[in-house]
Amino acid sequence: MFATVKTIEEMLNELAPVETAESYDNVGALVGRRDEDVTKILVALDCTWDVVKEAEQLGAELIVSHHPLLFHARKNLLEEDAEGRILCEMVRNNLSLVAAHTNLDQTEYSGSAACARLLGLRNLRKETNYLFLGELETPMQAATLEKKISQTIAFPVRCYGDGNLTITTLAIAGGADDGDWLAAKALGAQALLTGEVRHHNALAASMSDFVLFDGGHFGTEAPLVPFLANYLQNRLNELQYNVRVFPSQCAPFGSV
Ligand SMILES: [Zn+2]
Repeated sequence: MFATVKTIEEMLNELAPVETAESYDNVGALVGRRDEDVTKILVALDCTWDVVKEAEQLGAELIVSHHPLLFHARKNLLEEDAEGRILCEMVRNNLSLVAAHTNLDQTEYSGSAACARLLGLRNLRKETNYLFLGELETPMQAATLEKKISQTIAFPVRCYGDGNLTITTLAIAGGADDGDWLAAKALGAQALLTGEVRHHNALAASMSDFVLFDGGHFGTEAPLVPFLANYLQNRLNELQYNVRVFPSQCAPFGSV
């Protein structure tokens, strides 16, 4: 059975309903045609130029990305900026795009949940829309946990606060969510792993016996890609669609 872009859009909508996305967000089908047949899907954190090229090489008809294109309204579609070039290239090559962003962040397929799974957190729970908490298998000092997180997400991690503090409960809010540290502390966590830590939050947290781990926006959200690709592949297999799903292998920011 052949799937279309609409099939995948609906599948993602079952997992992460679009109406749960933030009002400022832009999710669902964004580029291409809903009635286009899909045999190969590329799942990526961002729909970058490299990801579009990767999709073309694979022969994929659809990209599923976490961060949307067209997040900000455009008034032209000229190939004079990065997004314009990407959009024109996609249209020329019949590539469609479906995005699941803040709606996905609230599910067990978020970057936060993916990091928590990779770190082996126990008793994982979603405490607020974007904040997940769990207990470490073995309590450890913040400095040791910093290294463990870095090895786990394969990205540099910065630890703000007392490296000797013992962490038992870790909160995770992948992406840009350092403002949640107070909520995380109130919920009993000793540390929060997020992707973008501003100085005033780092300072306030460290003066409150709380540790902030900055794993980078990409580092704390990219782990969702293989989990989401796997979810889509399993669901498509279950429904007997003849579609293959690939997690993107592109390095962030075009680096190696
Ligand atoms: Zn993000």
